[in-house]
Amino acid sequence: MNTVEIKKIWDEIKEQLEKEIPSSTFGPWISTLEAVSFEDDTFTLISGVAMGVEYVKRTQYKTILECFKNYFGRDIVVNLEFNQEAAEAIKKERQKTEKKIQKEQEKEEEHKKAIENLSYVKSLNINLRYRFDNFVEDSNNKIAKAAAQAVAKNPTGKYNPLYIQGASGLGKTHLMQAIGHYVTMNSNLKVRCVKTDDFVTDYCNSTRFTPNQNTTVSMNKFRNKYRNVDILLIDDIQFIENKKKCIDELFHTFDALYNANKQIVLTSDKLPKDLPEIPERLRNRFEQGLIVEIYPPEYETRVKILENFAKEKGIENIPKEVFEYIAKYKTDNVRELEGGFTTLDGYSNFEETPITLEYAKKVLKYEENNKKPDIEKVIEEVAKFYDISVEDIKSSSRVQKISNARAIVSYIAREKLGKTYKNIALSLNKRHQTITYSAENIKKSIKNDNNLKNETDKILKALNL
Ligand code: ADP
Ligand code: MG
Repeated sequence: MNTVEIKKIWDEIKEQLEKEIPSSTFGPWISTLEAVSFEDDTFTLISGVAMGVEYVKRTQYKTILECFKNYFGRDIVVNLEFNQEAAEAIKKERQKTEKKIQKEQEKEEEHKKAIENLSYVKSLNINLRYRFDNFVEDSNNKIAKAAAQAVAKNPTGKYNPLYIQGASGLGKTHLMQAIGHYVTMNSNLKVRCVKTDDFVTDYCNSTRFTPNQNTTVSMNKFRNKYRNVDILLIDDIQFIENKKKCIDELFHTFDALYNANKQIVLTSDKLPKDLPEIPERLRNRFEQGLIVEIYPPEYETRVKILENFAKEKGIENIPKEVFEYIAKYKTDNVRELEGGFTTLDGYSNFEETPITLEYAKKVLKYEENNKKPDIEKVIEEVAKFYDISVEDIKSSSRVQKISNARAIVSYIAREKLGKTYKNIALSLNKRHQTITYSAENIKKSIKNDNNLKNETDKILKALNL
């Protein structure tokens, strides 16, 4: 009889025995017996526990013999033996089970901790999407990523502050939040992540005198919030410019943290030296650590970022040529790159049309839009029309003719090229608000001022717009 058949018989007899023998004995001593042979009406069961064999023989042997007799309809000799190999196997099995239980407990603990961490991370303003593992690296952002990782692994180390500079949409916030995410998940250090605008608002609210607010108390609260941390992450520090009182507070916050050996991370679209409105003493603080710059990603990186982006959103089976098409046109801003794909995905859902290259071209129309002149061309054309130089337009001159030309550039770039005021402001070296105001002004004036309308039309014609 082969072992499978023997085991089957034993299983059936065991079922019977379970009904006859108290479970306190059956569980540890009978259910663990193994059937190994059945020859010449002799059935052999082995156990890995010597004491168990003795105990079963003493207390249950009769019942066992009866069950075997009932099963076979004749007397069977039942051999109960202790077996060293079985003992080893049992020992191993027990260790395995114990390890398994321990691992499961550890897993459960980890899971619990991860959930606690997750809600904690969320409460710290940290976007869980921004991690190091999904930040696609290339030679244009490699140093910034390496520095961010070094700071995350060893905050309060040698790179303090870490200042991440790059144009809009290149991953500064992503890297900064990845630091916060990593530190929170891997240590007990206290992290605070704040946008400069929120820091400013928070400060203003804390200093505002109202009948219900004791400003000493609210300022203490404010200071405790930003100084009683191990890492302070401040996003878009350029927005602190012109906020004089807040600059003072930031300066003291900075010093308090720095002197206590706490890590500070700052991001900005400008280098400290290009923030003239920020007092030198604070700019010097920004410069005393490590400054890293991020440049627009290469073509292959852009394609990969899009592939990852789609995957993270659970969108599959998109032809690679679609990603390549978007990456070809959206070259200098990852946010716009991702925005291109999001638009396409939205249209595809609403129109219930699968995403193909043809469909992408139809929806995004990058070829057509790309034929439009860029802002530099507009500046050139406007300068030519008013007989001034490109440098004049980009200068800080307030001569009427020049500021008028500048306003027309802003208007055309906004209305005809669809540029953001922020981008226009960057190209013209002006403040965002100034550009917004002058472009809106032209837009209004053009309705009543025929001269202005004629001039603008001529410029637009020259630009093929
Ligand atoms: P910034 O703060 O510099 O304006 P963000 O960090 O907000 O830019 O990045 C804009 C978007 O682009 C985010 O969705 C971010 O995840 C993504 N992004 C930027 N660079 C990369 C990169 N190298 N790999 C993956 N995603 C990136
Ligand atoms: Mg940002």
